[in-house]
Amino acid sequence: MSSFLPQKAKLLMTLRAQAIMQADILSAIETVPRELFIPENLHAHAYENASLPIGYKQTISQPYIVAVMTQSLELKKTHRVLEIGTGSGYQAAILARLSRRVYTLERLRPLMVSAEKRLKTLQISNITYRHGDGAKGWPEAAPFDRIIITCRVTEIPTALLDQLKEGGILIAPVGPSGKEELVRVKREAEGFEKKSLMPVRFVPMLAGTQA
Ligand code: SAH
Repeated sequence: MSSFLPQKAKLLMTLRAQAIMQADILSAIETVPRELFIPENLHAHAYENASLPIGYKQTISQPYIVAVMTQSLELKKTHRVLEIGTGSGYQAAILARLSRRVYTLERLRPLMVSAEKRLKTLQISNITYRHGDGAKGWPEAAPFDRIIITCRVTEIPTALLDQLKEGGILIAPVGPSGKEELVRVKREAEGFEKKSLMPVRFVPMLAGTQA
């Protein structure tokens, strides 16, 4: 199997040029084999800085966006992280390398099942999976140090804000379709401090689950 070395080197250069400077994030992107998270016919594009289709009308995010979201989370090795929208499992794999445990929720069962299989094959063992509606969060495992929503929400679900620890950070694409922005929320003692980071494009959060 090819290891995509020149393509990886080029992607890392692009990310550095776009101000992704955290060595552990760059190293995670270099190490996690993105080609294994996308359909076989797209393997040649695995290390392009582009989002790609993963079936079921869903996409794996652009590496730059994965890096920006991960960087904005300011992760520590001790953190427990909740991810909404497992998709291919790629973002979960990056988070798992930089935190203690990732709890990942996906509403489409087939995506969750294949992500779990893939991540187990890669011997990434600090991820817990659940087929469920992300808008409700994961109350049994709450509160979380960090929460990342990888689908667009028009408003951040209250259940997720409730499940964030004090001092915790949540990152999400928020807004109407085509006008969403990456928003960083920090939970302070007195409430939530919100900051808009940049315009982005994401698939929407959908209600309920699908077998
Ligand atoms: N993080 C993924 C990309 C996710 S794309 C990766 O690295 O590949 C967004 C995902 O959110 C899709 O898989 C979609 O099915 C899921 N999603 C949408 N609405 C959801 C909901 N209410 N609960 C859980 N997952 C949801």
